[in-house]
Amino acid sequence: MKVSIQLPAPPSRDYEIVIDELPTIALEGKAVVVTNPKVAGLHLRRLLEHLDAKELFVVTIPDGEEYKTMETIEFILDRCFDHRLDRKSTMVAFGGGVVGDMTGFAASIFQRGIDFIQIPTTLLSQVDASVGGKTGINNRYGKNLVGAFHQPRAVYIDTYWLGTLPEREFAAGVAEIVKMAVMFDEKFFEWLETHDLHDDANLKEAIKRSVELKAWVVNQDETEKGIRAVLNYGHTFAHVIENFSGYGSYLHGEAVAIGMVMANRLAMALGMFGPEEAERVEKLLARYGLPTDYAIDSAEAFYDRFFLDKKSHDNTITFIVPERLGRFKMVKGPARETVLEVLAHYEKGRGREE
Ligand code: NAD
Repeated sequence: MKVSIQLPAPPSRDYEIVIDELPTIALEGKAVVVTNPKVAGLHLRRLLEHLDAKELFVVTIPDGEEYKTMETIEFILDRCFDHRLDRKSTMVAFGGGVVGDMTGFAASIFQRGIDFIQIPTTLLSQVDASVGGKTGINNRYGKNLVGAFHQPRAVYIDTYWLGTLPEREFAAGVAEIVKMAVMFDEKFFEWLETHDLHDDANLKEAIKRSVELKAWVVNQDETEKGIRAVLNYGHTFAHVIENFSGYGSYLHGEAVAIGMVMANRLAMALGMFGPEEAERVEKLLARYGLPTDYAIDSAEAFYDRFFLDKKSHDNTITFIVPERLGRFKMVKGPARETVLEVLAHYEKGRGREE
């Protein structure tokens, strides 16, 4: 015997990403703003002036990647029940990627899913984390291993918030912008070489292009079955660097900068990407004070760590490398010797030699 369930097409989940001064946002029903003490202290008052909701609550969670846990999710959910939010309520993520990922996840499971909007306040979250609906938390097995794909109803990107962002955090966001350019858009890369992102008009332009490229990727592959994995360029190496250096020594974007330089070297070892192109990427990253070198104790130990990554399927790692500027290549399971040869350059910090 068989019974089939035939579901109607779900309502559209399309949404707008507004890159502009924050407008007044009208929210139906109750709303809860999720933020942390740092962002609240700096910017909550201005945010509240722009939110028009029947009833509005603020939930403050501790600041830091180490609090991106199920415990914090429980805390957010409890506050939502305390305030009697219902299925028509909206959550507002107000902060960097940590707040965004957690608010999105809490919204995806509160009463089986309610709306949320993203108001990202770091450059990294404006160009990357707030767009595309990946939400989640860390657990003892690793980063972002528990979560859901839950798209926001809207994303509002206002560079005003970035006025208080420390320079290192700013640069970490630039690394993700460079990533998009190297992978998908040579012209954008050339533009980045000649435009300073400390200028607000240039910054807005770069955010717009990065978000357009991310949207183009997500539109094709929401749940990372294919091309979305290209956004992991530099990240395979970065995760190992973060793992070895202890979370906190490098900001994620800094580890990604080193990881991209390493991936470029791998591309060259595989007969792609020229040394001149690699030099240009390194120069652009260094211009924003991003690290591009790293000392590895043992290439073998570094290599072995790749396999702890959740993205290594069947003990095969897929490396994302540039074939040339603006064109990516996914390389599945390159020869161990080739990767070790690349890593050997970094043993005792020799990555910059030659
Ligand atoms: P973060 O959220 O920890 O923010 C960095 C620091 O800046 C924090 O101390 C924060 O309080 C502070 N801050 C935020 N806005 C500020 C402002 N306007 N002025 C001054 N300080 C401010 O880190 P992040 O780099 O924004 O995001 C990293 C997180 O994003 C990671 O957890 C990562 O896994 C996640 N991420 C998610 C995706 C995705 O697709 N969902 C993509 C990339 C990264």
